[in-house]
Amino acid sequence: MTEHTDRHLCDACLEREYETYRHARVHEAIDRNKEWTERFRIASWPRWDYSLESSTLTFSENGQPRVIADIVVTGSVHSNKWEWSWGNPHMPSESRDRMSAVRDFGEEKEWAPLTTLFLESNEYLGWEFTAIAAHLLGADAGYRCPDSDAPGNFVYVVTFNTRFVQ
Ligand SMILES: [Zn+2]
Repeated sequence: MTEHTDRHLCDACLEREYETYRHARVHEAIDRNKEWTERFRIASWPRWDYSLESSTLTFSENGQPRVIADIVVTGSVHSNKWEWSWGNPHMPSESRDRMSAVRDFGEEKEWAPLTTLFLESNEYLGWEFTAIAAHLLGADAGYRCPDSDAPGNFVYVVTFNTRFVQ
């Protein structure tokens, strides 16, 4: 163990096969997201907005914020290409810093999907990578934010410190 590591290391992370690890993380993320969605009544809020300036995801009703989460961007999809946030200079520096732990984990494991900046995307890839990031960083949930100006483009995030606000 190095002193500067800022992610956990649990038994699940000792897995040697990427496919096995990936599969388990996706199922874990489905359960975690279900719990989060119920607890914060995510589906009931008519509007949501994300801000890369404040690194927050806000769910609102009648112009009032109801639920706010801090976010770390895991990556983005443009023109069917996935790009990890750790290498994307357009992403918030805190997201890039936090996500470097995921890249470092991929380097230790020699798992190329976690260390390759651009990858051909499909409808599952962003969720899969976001599930792995949620586990390694100890997030509440993962969320996919469509880019309203560019259909088919998305920003994927993991959430922390989700709270109701009045
Ligand atoms: Zn783990």
